[in-house]
Order: sequence, then C-alpha cells, then structure tokens
Amino acid sequence: MYSQKTIDLAKEIAETCTECDRCMKDCVFLQTYCENPKILFEQFLAEDLAAIVPYSCTFCGRCTVVCPLQLKLADVFLAIRQDLAAEKLPLKQLSGAVWHQRLSCSRIFSGLNRGK
Ligand code: SF4
Ligand code: SF4
Repeated sequence: MYSQKTIDLAKEIAETCTECDRCMKDCVFLQTYCENPKILFEQFLAEDLAAIVPYSCTFCGRCTVVCPLQLKLADVFLAIRQDLAAEKLPLKQLSGAVWHQRLSCSRIFSGLNRGK
C-alpha cells in the first residue's frame, strides 16, 4: 500500500534520528502521538500507524528547524497521507477533496489574468 518513496523517507528518520527529543519540546502533535520520531517511524515500518497520526501533523516545519540533523518529519507524514488518499483512506469521502483541489486550480475557476 505504501510507496517505496514513503518507506524510504520513514526509514531515514528511523535510522538517523538520535532521539535527542528536541523536536518534542515544541510540537503538541508529537507529544500526543509518540515518545519520539525514531520510535514512531519504527512503529510505522513494523506495523503501520492509525490514520489519525499522519493526518494530525500540521506541516509547520518547526521540527526540521530545531532538529540538529534537519530531519524532515513533515515530508514523511505528507507522503503517508498521499498514499492513504490514493487508496481513499481513511474515508472514501476524502477523495472529493482531491477533485475540489484539481478544479479550484483549473483554468476555469482560477482568477489568473492571462492577458487574453
Ligand atoms: S511539521 Fe508536524 S511534526 Fe513537525 S513540528 Fe510541525 S506539526 Fe510537529
Ligand atoms: S530533533 Fe531530530 S534527531 Fe532529535 S528527536 Fe527530533 S527528529 Fe530526532
């Protein structure tokens, strides 16, 4: 179900995170759902995560700013969400959001002045 790209991104965090826990101090989402990113992504690779976990990251990027290794946790959560959405998970109703985004950015509905 998960793409090789997603698995590779998760592996990178699981294998390189030093568990310094610096990112944990500033992120309520991480505090709520894990002991630290290394353990979280080891769990993802071993047994998957409840969908609410990747869908709860706000992609603020604070973790990358404070991480001594600049690990990009948000990139992994985004990749997981993209894989879930491709399978219409966790809710098939979410597939409507994909069409909303496609149409909203289309030439018909965008407000770009293309000079014509
Ligand atoms: S990008 Fe996600 S994991 Fe990182 S600090 Fe923001 S909410 Fe937390
Ligand atoms: S700051 Fe970086 S190395 Fe430290 S626990 Fe967070 S992701 Fe791991």
